[in-house]
Amino acid sequence: MQRLASYLSGAWQTGAGEGAALRDPTSGAIVARTSTAGLDLGAALRHAREVGGPALRSLTFAARGKLLAAMSKAIHAEREALIEMGRKNGGNTRGDAKFDIDGATGTLMYYAGLAESLGERTVLLDGEAITIGRSSRLVGQHILTPKPGVAVHINAFNFPAWGLAEKAACALLAGMPVISKPATATALMTWGLVKAVIDADVLPEGALGLICGGAGDLLDHLEWSDVVAFTGGASTGETIRRHPRVLASGVAVNVEADSLNAAILAPGAEDATYDAFIRDVHGEMTQKSGQKCTATRRILVPRDRLDDVIEDLGERLRRTVVGDPALDTVRMGPLASQAQLDSAREGLARLLEHARVAVGDPARSAFEGVEPGQGCFLDALLLVADDARRAGPVHDVEVFGPVATLLPYDGSAAEAAHIVRLGQGSLVASIYGDDQAFLGEAILALAGWHGRIVVTDGKIADKALQPGMVMPHLLHGGPGRAGGGEELGGRRGMKLYQQRTAVQGNGPLLARLLDA
Ligand code: NAP
Repeated sequence: MQRLASYLSGAWQTGAGEGAALRDPTSGAIVARTSTAGLDLGAALRHAREVGGPALRSLTFAARGKLLAAMSKAIHAEREALIEMGRKNGGNTRGDAKFDIDGATGTLMYYAGLAESLGERTVLLDGEAITIGRSSRLVGQHILTPKPGVAVHINAFNFPAWGLAEKAACALLAGMPVISKPATATALMTWGLVKAVIDADVLPEGALGLICGGAGDLLDHLEWSDVVAFTGGASTGETIRRHPRVLASGVAVNVEADSLNAAILAPGAEDATYDAFIRDVHGEMTQKSGQKCTATRRILVPRDRLDDVIEDLGERLRRTVVGDPALDTVRMGPLASQAQLDSAREGLARLLEHARVAVGDPARSAFEGVEPGQGCFLDALLLVADDARRAGPVHDVEVFGPVATLLPYDGSAAEAAHIVRLGQGSLVASIYGDDQAFLGEAILALAGWHGRIVVTDGKIADKALQPGMVMPHLLHGGPGRAGGGEELGGRRGMKLYQQRTAVQGNGPLLARLLDA
């Protein structure tokens, strides 16, 4: 049995005891075990702070960018092995695993390019120098420098590769060392990724650590200078935010949590726009078996288009082969674990109190290439809640699987926005339409409730990106129930890891010292 070690204090370390089992969600077989029992996580944080931090801070942005590019190449070199780990431990189809791994290498490369543009400097200026007295020599200049602690990254089970890379890219470029903790259930691919980077020996010692297994007493060792970036369920996010050490030390915490993302079909959409809407909603429901924080959960359609959408989306969903992800014909695999299946079924039962099934079979037990009843499978399910304003749990319960609910509305932007806002803040909303007045009104009515809005009209319909695709250039995060966090967004993604300082003094001297 493979035992996954953690990489801490510059060495691979294996925890004591039998440890947690990591399973193949297609067969139920145990594929590895891991434990953090007995590991000195306090020493690991100190090592990152005292060894990794100074090493990174001594490098210019351009030099840190070279590290990110080297990381990306080291991961890409192991792509096939990592895809196999995604199948074995995450139930990923080949396409799903590639989406995760290529997302990781692509994000690292994007930040490597950004680093090059920031050049041979270690300090960033935040705005212009500001004259603050009668003499024009007396100025204040805001600067951004790396926080002197360690970035602790706690990730969800669904993106074991990208989840590590998107956070690490921003922290390492900002000059902070990283200790990353993937979700235990699907940690195999993250372990493989970190092993590829460590084996390639491309990072300074202490720059990257890995915790495989439970968090243990990790948070008890945080210092004021550290940062926690968390992705996962809202209740875990709350536990971390309320942790006594986090509160007492004023540790900065960023939370990316649940989200009930909506897609809106506007009235009068051209055929190309409508086709893109059907294509994207289908993609969002089935890619990674719907286990994406940005996946579409609520689908708003003008009441007079409801039957068309059920027919067209239903046709695509019925053609999607669900089963063993090792088979070439299969387009959707199982959920990642029994716990996820149980949680999805529980949430589904709540949705069904206010919605009916239009497409799919919640009780389906036969799937391509697997024994009936075997594995963590759930059919793709399209639900309808006829009374969208009073759909209760549809606006409140995130079913983390291939499940979405159609919500008919009266065709006005105001009504669509009212219904979407019942989700209390989401990562992304997508609007498909060609009526400019509708689009303009909807964007402004939804912006305060969202981190990102994707607008698709007929002119870009064939090249538009699926709303669930998170881009390193653009902000990822959302207000309210989505956690209130912000990640990525180019330079914005470094902000969590940087201290902003106002430096006051003699303007020409400061300009020389700070290389402004
Ligand atoms: P989860 O159960 O909240 O776990 C997330 C991470 O937190 C795991 O690494 C987990 O470790 C760790 N954790 C649990 N308890 C902890 C504690 N007391 N102290 C420190 N760490 C702790 O979430 P999940 O089931 O992995 O992920 C599903 C959820 O994530 C969904 O709700 C989804 O919406 C959300 N999500 C959000 C985003 C986003 O960007 N907004 C992205 C992806 C997923 P163990 O696995 O070892 O317990």
